[in-house]
Amino acid sequence: MSAITVRVPAKVNLQLAVGPLREDGYHDLVNVFHAVSIFDEVTAAEPGDVSAAAPPLTVRIEGESAGEVPANDDNLAVRAARALAGHAGRSYRADLLIRKSIPVAGGMAGGSADAAAALVACNELWGLGLPVEDLMEIAADVGSDVPFALLGGTAVGTGRGERLSRLETSGAFHWVFALADGGLSTPRVYGECDRLREEAGTDPGLPVASEPLLAALREGDAAALGRALTNDLQPAALSLRPSLAHTLHAGAELGALGSLVSGSGPTCAFLAASETHAAEIAAGLKNAEGCRAAVTATGPVPGAVVVG
Ligand code: ATP
Repeated sequence: MSAITVRVPAKVNLQLAVGPLREDGYHDLVNVFHAVSIFDEVTAAEPGDVSAAAPPLTVRIEGESAGEVPANDDNLAVRAARALAGHAGRSYRADLLIRKSIPVAGGMAGGSADAAAALVACNELWGLGLPVEDLMEIAADVGSDVPFALLGGTAVGTGRGERLSRLETSGAFHWVFALADGGLSTPRVYGECDRLREEAGTDPGLPVASEPLLAALREGDAAALGRALTNDLQPAALSLRPSLAHTLHAGAELGALGSLVSGSGPTCAFLAASETHAAEIAAGLKNAEGCRAAVTATGPVPGAVVVG
């Protein structure tokens, strides 16, 4: 094969429970990940330039927000490909092309998705034949959201988010995502969360998975799921980007079953009762303050898959 293309989904966190800051600088999390049908595509191709001076891994990015993504060794897809070559114990070459649709720095784990896609694409291109368990281990070293992008579906992550178990769900859920102008830095949002808690003197305690949320997923009950959505990072995202309160309010006014900031934001997620309801919410959100564009999606969808 001279080129492999992998499609990979964005995620929304249905529950993001953040424990106290640990001594190692991380937080204990309970993170219910849900993969939705907004996809990036990553193609890994045999390199055009095979001269000894050429870098072993190159990356190009296409799409509306391509300019916001590093086209160098800092790109998470390149880091993942390098980690895979390291695991295989030799240097490999590939030209990576990322077609971005997942909002950049939007709280939907786009960079992690590209990393997962690069692992699957390069495993195939280089004929390594590594099983998914090995790819999951390499993925966890690249970043704590990368294993979920490989797995897809709906899953709960504990620890720093890296210990993952699949969750049983019924049917499809219909979503609307309000995209904002510009991103929010994940470390900054966690920092703001710690600051707000310290200021208020709150002790969050150890995070636990929400039973009503897990039951709603099992039963495919969208109304119950809407009521159970929670994100401990939301106050911090709103503090850093107050206009998101208007976006969330607009979605609620349009009859969303539930609304929340996705991960560290600034993308906002709205759960709809049906595909038609989702289209209505998306149309209504287009004029909301703080909303650049609104897109509909369904979940759960599979993780990174080879499509060509
Ligand atoms: P998360 O939800 O995992 O916290 P996010 O969705 O908020 O992440 P990403 O889109 O993953 O954010 O990007 C975060 C930063 O990572 C970007 O600002 C960008 O500079 C860098 N980055 C590196 N590689 C990529 C990539 N392939 N796609 C997007 N961003 C990347």
